[in-house]
Amino acid sequence: MTINHPAALDPHVRSDSRFHPERLPSPLTYYSQHWRLPSPDSQGWVHVCCVFHGDEQSSLAINLQSGAFHCCVCKAEGADVVDFVMQFYKIEIETAAKILGGR
Ligand SMILES: [Zn+2]
Repeated sequence: MTINHPAALDPHVRSDSRFHPERLPSPLTYYSQHWRLPSPDSQGWVHVCCVFHGDEQSSLAINLQSGAFHCCVCKAEGADVVDFVMQFYKIEIETAAKILGGR
């Protein structure tokens, strides 16, 4: 299953003056709420059980620096924690930003 939310990458939405990326939690802070995180590699990547499909093999790679994520099984992917929240809760970017405190 592929989950795509083009709006997440839409620069128009991202540049909305009501969107305050500096208020978002760091990827490390946010992802720590979902998983007991292993130590990242030198690039900031860790592998955890994917929350987008029934995973038992830590198929989801998440980056604790950028917030990017990618699942090699269900192909879920995104560029930051906003993308993650949108896809996890199946919500629009406005709501995701509100949940994360970015607006
Ligand atoms: Zn997956």
